[in-house]
Amino acid sequence: MVPVITIDGPASSGKGTVAKLLAKELGFHYLESGAIYRALGLWVYRNYGDTSVGESQVVDLVSTMLLEFTDLGVILGGENVTDALREEFVGMLASKYGSIPEVRARLLQFQRDFAKEPGLVTDGRDMGSVVFPAAKLKVFLTASAEKRAERRYKQLQLFNKSVTIEAILQDIIARDEQDSNRSTAPLSYDSSFKVLDNSDLTIEETIAVISKWYQK
Ligand code: C5P
Repeated sequence: MVPVITIDGPASSGKGTVAKLLAKELGFHYLESGAIYRALGLWVYRNYGDTSVGESQVVDLVSTMLLEFTDLGVILGGENVTDALREEFVGMLASKYGSIPEVRARLLQFQRDFAKEPGLVTDGRDMGSVVFPAAKLKVFLTASAEKRAERRYKQLQLFNKSVTIEAILQDIIARDEQDSNRSTAPLSYDSSFKVLDNSDLTIEETIAVISKWYQK
């Protein structure tokens, strides 16, 4: 069986950075599942703009979404959308459309196909609970909302985006709530997960803990 490490957790917990670096360290493939849901959010937005969209219309769009992960970034319908996917409103759309059960069902196999030799590290919300329940190591990575807002703020400053840390904190709290309270694939974990609060750890320290768990 192909070894899989799943890292689930709330927005800006550092799971993406940690998962990507850990995959590199182990020579494994990497899947950022949030990018798939973000791409869907953007795809719906590009097709319908601000008009309200019904569930069946969103489900139909899943099969028209041509999505590729390349060395140059995420390509959606032939266009490099890597930067557009990071927009906060795209994250909110991802969270909204990701709550439709049929959408998740249709994306299941696409995600599972990333589990190839020599192994996969993947991050998201339900990688350990739904997509790869038999993964060799399942991690739930979290940090306080304030720490996560701080990290996101620093990240956005690198891109010269003018936002306040308070606004980011409000966005994070809103998305946590939306992700935790939805009836389909809520953000949660059970006793088969290892939980790590990395509020006071660096990325390197976080990776070291997870690597150690994996080697055991
Ligand atoms: O991880 P990221 O913040 O990029 O994810 C954006 C949104 O996509 C999340 O808030 C979540 O609602 C949704 N998502 C999901 N299932 C996943 C990954 C992300 O529903 N496996």
